[in-house]
Amino acid sequence: MTLRLYNTLTSQKETFEPADPDLARIYYCGPTVYDYAHLGHARSAIVYDILVRHLRANGTKVLFVRNVTDIDDKIIKRSVENGEEPAELAKRFEAAYQEDMRAVGNIDPDIEPRVSEHLTDIHKLIQRLIDNGSAYEAGGDVYFRVKSFKDYGKLSHRKMEDHQSGASGRTADTEQAKKESPEDFALWKGNAGDGPSWSSPWGEGRPGWHIECSAMSMAHLGDSFDLHGGGLDLVFPHHENEIAQSEAATGKPMAKYWMHNGFIEVNKEKMSKSLGNFFTARELYKRVEPEAVRWFNLTCHYRAPLNLDWTVDEEGNITGFPQFEEAERRVEYLYNAKKRLADIPAKRIVPRDDALPEELGEFPAKLAAALDEDLSFPAALAEASAFLKAVNDLTEKAKGKKGKAPLSWVEAANLGFERLDAELGLGTKDADAVLLGIRDRRAAAKGIEAATVEAKIAERAQARADKDFERADAVRGELTAMGVELLDSPEGTVWTVS
Ligand SMILES: [Zn+2]
Repeated sequence: MTLRLYNTLTSQKETFEPADPDLARIYYCGPTVYDYAHLGHARSAIVYDILVRHLRANGTKVLFVRNVTDIDDKIIKRSVENGEEPAELAKRFEAAYQEDMRAVGNIDPDIEPRVSEHLTDIHKLIQRLIDNGSAYEAGGDVYFRVKSFKDYGKLSHRKMEDHQSGASGRTADTEQAKKESPEDFALWKGNAGDGPSWSSPWGEGRPGWHIECSAMSMAHLGDSFDLHGGGLDLVFPHHENEIAQSEAATGKPMAKYWMHNGFIEVNKEKMSKSLGNFFTARELYKRVEPEAVRWFNLTCHYRAPLNLDWTVDEEGNITGFPQFEEAERRVEYLYNAKKRLADIPAKRIVPRDDALPEELGEFPAKLAAALDEDLSFPAALAEASAFLKAVNDLTEKAKGKKGKAPLSWVEAANLGFERLDAELGLGTKDADAVLLGIRDRRAAAKGIEAATVEAKIAERAQARADKDFERADAVRGELTAMGVELLDSPEGTVWTVS
C-alpha cells in the first residue's frame, strides 16, 4: 500500500512510511472526561479509527494509543457542581466515552493511558526540562521557556508575536506575573486551593494541560513515533506545546506526521457547548442507528468542515436530522443487501464462469485506493455504494423460479463485505438487529405501536385464509397509510416503516 496523508507539519501530502515498516506507532489526543462525548468527538475518533483500520487491513501492524485526560480543571469544576468526587466523575465519563465510541463502530485503542497513572513520568519530564534550561520554577509553578526552543511555531506556522497575543488572553494575571515571558506556558501549576492536588518536587499542584501528552506518548511509543493526530483545534497551542516539550527534552523529532481533522459546523459555526448547537452522541443514537452517524461522517473529507442541519417545528423543537435520516436509509440498504446475500439458498448458487461485474471484483482494490489518497472518505463511500448496488443486483438475479447466482459472484460479494468492515467499519453488526432497531426507532418517532401492526397483520392473514382478498387488501391499505410496509415471504410477513 502507498498511503498518502496531509501532514500539518509540512503543509503537504506525503507518503506515510513508518520508521519501523512492520509497526506504525500512532498517538491520538483522546477526551477530557467531564461530560458525554458530542458529535465532534465521534467524528474525530472515527477518522483515526479508519486510519488504523486501513493500515491494518493492508498489512501494517499498528500500535494505537488514545489517552484519557482524567485530571483537568473542567473535571474539578463539574465535580463541584455535581457534588461528586472528581476521580469518580472522570471514571464515569471515561466509561461513557468508550461505550459511545464503540457504538459508532470504533475499535478500542491498544493502550488508553490516564494522566492520573502517569504523574511520575510527568514529573521526570518536567525535571529534565528544568535541568537543561528549557523550563523554570516560579512560585510553585513550572513554566516552559518558549524562547529557548527555536523551532517553536513550526507546526502551526505562527510567528512569535501571534503566540504572545494568544497566550496573554487566556491566562490569569497572577500567572502572567510569575512568567519570564508572556508566551511561556505552564508545565505544573501549584495548588491554588481549588480542588485536588498531587505532590511534586515543586510542591503540591496539578500538571499543565500539554505536558501529559508528551509524557504519555514517550512512555508508550518512545521519544519519536510515526503519527500524532487530533482535532484541528489542537494544532495550537496543544500540539505546538507538545512538540516543544518533547523535542526540548529529547533533541529528537516527536512525530513525523501530524494529522488533524476538521470540525462539525452548524450554520458555518463550530459546534460547541457555548453556542447551544451541541448534540451528544448518545442523544443522536436515540434518534438514528449509530452506524448512520458513522456513514454521515464519511460523506465529507476528514479535513473539511462537516455541516450539520436539522428541522424544527413552529415552537423550535427539533423534529429531525435529514442528513442522518438519509445516512440511515443507506445503512438500511447495506444491511438488507447483506441479509439477502446470506439468504440466497445454496441450491441457487452455481459454479458458472460468468464475467464478474467490476463493482464486485474490483471493489477491494478500489476501496483501498480511495483511502490511500489522504483517506478520501467520499470516494470510499462512492465505491461502497456501487458495491452494494451490485450485491443487490446479484440477489435479484438469484430470485424467481429460474434464479441463479454464480458462485464466484457470491464469493466476491462476501469478500467485499469483509473489506467494508475491515477498512471502514461498516456492516459490522448483526443485520437483523440493526434492521429491527431502525424499524422500531422509526415506528416510535411516528407513534406507531408494534402491537397494533401485528394485530392488523394477523387480521390480514385471516382474511387471506378466508379468501376475502378485498378485506386483506383493505387492511394492507390501512397499514400503508400509517407508513408501514409489508413484506411477505415463505416464513411469514415482516413489516418495516418507510
Ligand atoms: Zn494531547
